[in-house]
Amino acid sequence: MTELFVSDLHLDAGTPAANRQFLQFLDRQAAQASALYILGDLFEAWIGDDDPDPGAAEVCAALAALAAAGVACFALHGNRDFLLGEAFSRRTGVRLLPDPVVADFEDEQVLLTHGDALCVDDHAYQELRAIVRRGDWQRRFLALPRATRAWLAGAARRGSRAHTARTVPYVMDVNAAAVEAAYRATGVRRIIHGHTHRPGCHDATVDGQTVQRIVLGAWYEQGSYLVRNGTHYELLTLPR
Ligand code: MN
Repeated sequence: MTELFVSDLHLDAGTPAANRQFLQFLDRQAAQASALYILGDLFEAWIGDDDPDPGAAEVCAALAALAAAGVACFALHGNRDFLLGEAFSRRTGVRLLPDPVVADFEDEQVLLTHGDALCVDDHAYQELRAIVRRGDWQRRFLALPRATRAWLAGAARRGSRAHTARTVPYVMDVNAAAVEAAYRATGVRRIIHGHTHRPGCHDATVDGQTVQRIVLGAWYEQGSYLVRNGTHYELLTLPR
């Protein structure tokens, strides 16, 4: 059993090189695995399951082929593609998981999350997150005409870029107390997440237990994925 984990691909029609690399990754690495976990921000934006982006359509078709070939595919919502819904799931065969979720592998339980919920020092972002993750907000947004949703999503991305540019780096990273609380609340000894675009493995001790937080890398300049073989983990990069 080999599981693969990716996040923060941020794909759309404007990222042809990353799209090609991800399609190749699905064809080569993922096709050999037993499962693929996409931990959020597969897409740069998602305005609803009728999103017309041609780059995203190509990725969806490739995921459908992978799932049809017998690889179990799972996805969590990211802060960019939190509107991925049931129609996306039917079209691709990718099962949507709640965020966070405790994955029950045969030899250990691992907490999987996109990671944005752990960045509690970014108060402005957490306020926005609380609003847009509400069911009533999402129903009202999805009922808007597609052009209106696309315009609003563009405005939100410009606002997000401006916010990121003027926010000090530590605020954009996970909060240590929030991470400890996640270990305690779930009892897991390993957390896998993305979002911060700071790939790495962080070993720590919580209540006398050795724990590890693995952070996945973004796909802006290169491919990045995590391989799990039993309890052995390896973060790998794919040169572009
Ligand atoms: Mn993110």
